[in-house]
Amino acid sequence: MAEIYPELAEDLASIAARGLYRSRRIVSSPQGIVLNVDGRTLLNFCSNDYLGLANHPSVVAAFKHGADRYGVGSGSAHLLCGHSAAHHALEEELAEFTGRERALLFSTGYMANLGIVSALAGRGDTVLEDRLNHASLLDGGLLSAAQFKRYRHADMEHLEANLTRASGRKLIVTDGVFSMDGDLAPLDALSSLARKQNAWLMVDDAHGLGVMGRRGGGILEHYGLGRNDVPILMGTLGKAFGTFGAFVAGSRELIETLIQKARTYIYTTALPPAVAEATRVSLKMAIADHWRREKLAELIRRFSRGAEQLGLTLLPSASAIQPVVIGDSQETMFIGKALLEKGFLVGAIRPPTVPQGSARLRITFSALHEAHHVDRLLEAFEFILAQRPAAKPTID
Ligand SMILES: *Cc1c(COP(=O)(O)O)cnc(C)c1O
Repeated sequence: MAEIYPELAEDLASIAARGLYRSRRIVSSPQGIVLNVDGRTLLNFCSNDYLGLANHPSVVAAFKHGADRYGVGSGSAHLLCGHSAAHHALEEELAEFTGRERALLFSTGYMANLGIVSALAGRGDTVLEDRLNHASLLDGGLLSAAQFKRYRHADMEHLEANLTRASGRKLIVTDGVFSMDGDLAPLDALSSLARKQNAWLMVDDAHGLGVMGRRGGGILEHYGLGRNDVPILMGTLGKAFGTFGAFVAGSRELIETLIQKARTYIYTTALPPAVAEATRVSLKMAIADHWRREKLAELIRRFSRGAEQLGLTLLPSASAIQPVVIGDSQETMFIGKALLEKGFLVGAIRPPTVPQGSARLRITFSALHEAHHVDRLLEAFEFILAQRPAAKPTID
């Protein structure tokens, strides 16, 4: 029998040698702009809790009430006896929020995407995805047994060329706000292309819902598009809505099809009803609290103005995701570590999450940040960049 441990140790050493080793930090405080991490107090610039709802007292209270009423576990999958009145009410509220007939809850966004894509396309069909889509969408395409085509990022000509050659049912799938770049999908062009080519269009708006649009309707509200333009809309609940889980919204036929066919819906335990109760409250707040979106937009403008003045390479993002591209993985880790030493927590993102040579610091903002937090982060960047050697020493 082959020895498992030496082989794994070799793999791990190779990951480390390439500067790609990942490890976790231990957080001992609630989510918020100040986190207690590994015993230190840090200013948090890496959370997806964009509206600052994850630890809001009303959301926490709804969660506790939910637990008093339903207990903790949901007991089973939705199709056995796990579909509670709390889940059902949340689905109806999500349908109303998105302006669609129905919505369906999934236990996570990852599972929603695997389940939706593989239920809607199969052998003989074609799934077409932006190559920078979230891993769960790409994995859904691979799992589906359909022909799987990736088009160049936001490149409509490349997509159209692929569409004209596609066979069977054609499903176009895109992130709304790209999770590692922060830019928006060209959704108006995508929806007219889908119409022209008789293809289905699915949008994953994990980072747009709650954040973009006047009432938080996400990228569709931003572009002024509706359910006929984008018939399949997926969103997550663990980001701007501050809780956990995910959903898809669409027509009655879409939702009923997924209930019959999406394996990641059928064969998994429903999320705890108390989480659904908490989400019902955070959804209401996300819609009503315009100030959270306005403040977030103000902080983002402040950061991108300041970063530009420092000569940082920002990607063209108007979203709460502001990546500073460094390029080299080791260099990215070095700057990330220097920021950490100064008390700032930012995401250091390396391949394979992003393409080779585009390692970056992924900075995200929350409506709970203040202008002086942004300024302090910019000052730390300035200090660290000034200390850094202008060019790498050449070795003869
Ligand atoms: C976070 C994310 C997901 C996964 O959602 P989870 O609920 O965290 O599993 C899916 N798609 C995109 C674009 C995401 O950013």
